[in-house]
Amino acid sequence: VRLEVFVMLGSDVSSLSTPAATAAAKGLSIVVPAYNEAASLAALHQRICDLAKVLRQRYGLGCEVVYVDDDSGDATHSIACTLPASSVDVQVISLSRNFGKEAVLMAGLDYARRGAVLFMDGDGQHPPALIEQLASHWIEGGYDVVYTAKAHRDNESLLRRLSVHGFYALINWGARQKIPEDAGDFRLLSPRAVAALRQLPERNRFLKGSASWIGFRQIRVDYEPAPRAHGVATFSLMRLLGLSIEGLTSFSMVPLRFASLLGVPLATAAFLFGLWISWEVWTAGKQVPGNPSLVVGLMTIGGVQLIMIGIVGEYIGKILSELKARPIYFVAEHSEKQFAVEGRVS
Ligand code: UDP
Ligand code: MG
Repeated sequence: VRLEVFVMLGSDVSSLSTPAATAAAKGLSIVVPAYNEAASLAALHQRICDLAKVLRQRYGLGCEVVYVDDDSGDATHSIACTLPASSVDVQVISLSRNFGKEAVLMAGLDYARRGAVLFMDGDGQHPPALIEQLASHWIEGGYDVVYTAKAHRDNESLLRRLSVHGFYALINWGARQKIPEDAGDFRLLSPRAVAALRQLPERNRFLKGSASWIGFRQIRVDYEPAPRAHGVATFSLMRLLGLSIEGLTSFSMVPLRFASLLGVPLATAAFLFGLWISWEVWTAGKQVPGNPSLVVGLMTIGGVQLIMIGIVGEYIGKILSELKARPIYFVAEHSEKQFAVEGRVS
């Protein structure tokens, strides 16, 4: 008897690659992260419900909204619980503490029950009017990942624009699947893209990266972000820096290569310098004035070494947190409301 041991090293999600129009029958889950968004939720919900009606009429698409409350300090949770299930199903999830947006998006992805998933901020910056266009790219165009990008960055400082540009240059250096610059978290994923994303096992999340990494048919839609409906953005410079390091260490090994890239020219220069000194001593009998050059050399190499140890440390920290394998979030409360279809006799 021949025993065949068959191990699948990849993952096949092709069974979900039905024509998008058929897949649409499973509907769309809209995931809304909300951290202290009490003031804007009601208006946002109203607009989503209006849109859901349009989508139902046009494509027969049923929608669900998943509000994920990231342990807000205000009334976000209680307000979300009062939102009516008119033309959409509503789920409200409350996390046990503030886990940050990436974890919140993962929670939404896990709890989404419909086929496709759309991520959309709770502060009104992602225009709901665009949902229809995103859905049509998926249903009519057959795209799997419909992502949005800021049409321009004219209102941002030069420093910020430069650092964003540098960040993407670094993360995409030598990468096969480039992460699109400026892509935001406002994005629609088809059922098979959702299935693919759910299979990524890592705990440290950088959704912009993963959603691009999975591949499939992707399309970009430019949009003009609306001003925040109220309050101020929670993403400070430090938080953005943290997210950038998170993204870099998740998706790029380039920083580790810096050690060799810097080390080789430095060592070469030092070697040549040594040769030159010896030459001077042998031929002219000159004593090279040593102290300044020594100090400069030591400090350069010392600085480079410290930076490289820091970078290696980032990656080791990441290995540790993957190794601990802790859950990405804890859900403290979960409630849901089903939409009763009009005209249905109960
Ligand atoms: N958010 C969250 N947890 C946090 C911080 C933010 O769920 O710890 C949500 C927030 O409610 C909003 C989205 O993430 O819906 C984007 O946050 P924000 O508007 O502060 O940032 P920006 O618009 O600058 O990306
Ligand atoms: Mg915002």
